[in-house]
Amino acid sequence: MSYKDYNLKLERIANSIKNNTKLITTNRKGHNYRDLKFKKKQTRIETGTLTNVLELKNDYIDCESAVTIGKVNRSTIPTKRMIPSLPEGDNFTVGGCLAGLGLGSSSYLYGFFGDNVIDFDIILGNGEIIKKVSKTKNSDLYYGIGGTYGTMGIITRVKIKLIPCEKHVKVNYYHYNSFDNFYKDFSRRIKERSSDFIEAFANKKNSYTIVSANFISDIKHKKIAVIKNKDIMKQRSMTIYAQISNKKESCYLRLLDYLERYSYAAFWGHYLYTPYKMRDYLYAGLLYSLMPQKILDSSPGHGRYNISKYFHAANHIVGDYYRDEYVLATDIGVPLSKLKEAMELADKMTETYPRWICPINIDHHPDKIFCTKKPELCKDDIILDLGIYGIKNTSKPSKEINQAFERFSFEHGMFKGFFSTCYFTYEDFWNQFDKNKYDSLRETYHADKNFMNIFDKMNYRNKTKKDNLRSKLFKFFGKKYLKQINNNKDRLIK
Ligand SMILES: Cc1cc2nc3c(=O)[nH]c(=O)nc-3n(C[C@H](O)[C@H](O)[C@H](O)COP(=O)(O)OP(=O)(O)OC[C@H]3O[C@@H](n4cnc5c(N)ncnc54)[C@H](O)[C@@H]3O)c2cc1C
Repeated sequence: MSYKDYNLKLERIANSIKNNTKLITTNRKGHNYRDLKFKKKQTRIETGTLTNVLELKNDYIDCESAVTIGKVNRSTIPTKRMIPSLPEGDNFTVGGCLAGLGLGSSSYLYGFFGDNVIDFDIILGNGEIIKKVSKTKNSDLYYGIGGTYGTMGIITRVKIKLIPCEKHVKVNYYHYNSFDNFYKDFSRRIKERSSDFIEAFANKKNSYTIVSANFISDIKHKKIAVIKNKDIMKQRSMTIYAQISNKKESCYLRLLDYLERYSYAAFWGHYLYTPYKMRDYLYAGLLYSLMPQKILDSSPGHGRYNISKYFHAANHIVGDYYRDEYVLATDIGVPLSKLKEAMELADKMTETYPRWICPINIDHHPDKIFCTKKPELCKDDIILDLGIYGIKNTSKPSKEINQAFERFSFEHGMFKGFFSTCYFTYEDFWNQFDKNKYDSLRETYHADKNFMNIFDKMNYRNKTKKDNLRSKLFKFFGKKYLKQINNNKDRLIK
């Protein structure tokens, strides 16, 4: 695929925007724990054709914006190269990770996905095309785009830095039965920077696991858990959480399998909808084995269908506001030094376990608007994504819980992932983020009259949604089912 074809697509999208009179949005459903009904009233721009890798060199990959992370990995890993900071989902797109947020277990070394972008192209709300937005060209837009969630323009191309890697990793599991021991070791390992990847889990109160992974080049005599692309057992072998529950100490994986370790289950989200251990064999195993590869996979050349495993999994825990009262999917930004307080708050509000703890190196720049810290409130260089995904165990309303988390992150100079359920109040939101900067960037780049405002987009709720058929079914069957799951949780997540 050439730049010539890319330029033709670019012109076509720009022309359609020039003639448009309504608010604009992408046609992606994406990965959001949000109500997307507003899209029906707006002009939806088809970005689904932008699925080609344009150039792959030693130190960068240049992609159209709907190229998925899975496709990037399958293009770069054979050449022993990878994007420095990779999000934990193979079907996330490079455009979505730049406009939204992208982070994973190597982010404690390399920051967010967006921090590793070299340049990008964007079509503005008036149809104007700006090419090669970078640290030196339209730098206000380069730094300001992260976390604007499609409210600034349509990104069409993203060029990302590559770093050397190996094709295999050794994964180590370290288990702890007190917060203090875990925290001491976790902070030390982060400071030492000797793991290529690191993340942690609060399994339940006083049960923690650090999972670190390092590249290995010499795989002779090592028992690599080679996971066939179509394997009914794949889910069982891949789920890191299953390994933790079984108190594993280490294992070897192909790098690609490690990077896609959550793709079959959206972390442990699957236990919410597939009963008992059957989920692994029936849903993730048999179903995926039966699906044609080109529907399932994000391999190069298979971009057209690209319905990923992650999407299937995430879709079941995403987007129903009735279920929202029972199930939480929320990511809170926490400075490393405030983890204990955050865990105590989460215990008080929800008691939901397990929790994901992913460290990120936060690189502050004054032109960043959303994906950044408030330096006067957060002195830490390492922040954590505290992911709380699972059944709510208290009777507090979801709104109250989410607002408590949102305030906690704001009070400590951090932010909450906008893709998760948001209940920001207008005052809290704009106290945290620089409204003048956001408004003026939107005005400069013709976004203000053409794209929805971010506060409205994050907090959008269709009031009638609770009464749809899915909600009624959930009300009838779901509540009992969740209760049953909760009672058996320790057994289920093994
Ligand atoms: C269950 C679950 C688990 C998650 N786990 C992780 C995780 O481990 N790590 C992580 O980093 N993130 C995680 N996320 C969040 C997810 O990575 C972000 O929402 C990311 O932005 C998704 O990428 P996407 O390509 O699907 O984007 P989308 O969801 O499609 O888009 C994200 C935002 O960017 C906008 N956008 C998309 N494409 C473009 C474009 N071409 N031009 C302009 N705007 C655009 C959209 O309008 C949207 O507002 C998770 C989300 C869910 C629901």
